[in-house]
Amino acid sequence: MKRMPVVFVGHGSPMNAVEENTFTRCWKDIADSIPRPKAILMVSAHWVTNGLKINGDAQPKMLYDMYGFPDPLYEVVYNALGAPELAHRVSQLLNCEVTVDKTRGFDHGNWSVLSKMYPDHDIPLTQLSVDLSRSPEEIYQIGHELQALRDEGVLIIGSGNVVHNLRWVDWDATEGYAWADSFDKMVRDHILKKQHLSLINYAEKGEIARLSVPTMEHYLPLLYILGATTMDDEVRVYNDARTMGSLSMTSYVWE
Ligand code: ZN
Repeated sequence: MKRMPVVFVGHGSPMNAVEENTFTRCWKDIADSIPRPKAILMVSAHWVTNGLKINGDAQPKMLYDMYGFPDPLYEVVYNALGAPELAHRVSQLLNCEVTVDKTRGFDHGNWSVLSKMYPDHDIPLTQLSVDLSRSPEEIYQIGHELQALRDEGVLIIGSGNVVHNLRWVDWDATEGYAWADSFDKMVRDHILKKQHLSLINYAEKGEIARLSVPTMEHYLPLLYILGATTMDDEVRVYNDARTMGSLSMTSYVWE
């Protein structure tokens, strides 16, 4: 079996789930350009835990974990079946303790992206949490341990944003602030040069890092994914853009 790619998607506004735009069309293009997975392991910025968890439910429910948006967003249903066997496999594969959670549903960081990438929702899907009790190095190491799944037909997707600062969001802006552009470009350059240590130690970048990553949950999905890459992978960049001032949509495929 050919090794599966790994993907990081900058998900931006939840409204992308119900809009058709250049970003969402690009997410579909990514899915169409890679082999069809047997199952999907999603790491979304919107499942933050203290201790690592994985969804082991056979039919996870929908979570509408965003507030004050138009009604159609609360009517999206992403009906993919769960992937309890994959959840079990992940819990065996990792060298750390993982709690299998059968109560949590799919959050919007997950379904806003997958409803565009795989609109037929016919691929078993489970979700791994963003464990905020761990350091960036430890998150990267967990990603590394997940790498074996790529040889088992599993597509690992990280859904977050390299730049994500809601305090600075300007809903009418279509570009990014200068600091957002700088940080996103710096991350892109390190990704293309495979300088992962610089990305683990992103906080050393000073003020642009503090503004772009005020909290870690939207950045950490990138580190899980980077850990699952190999030095042989070729990197492709998609949606290289900043929007609303302080969100970056930049997305990557390693194949
Ligand atoms: Zn988000």
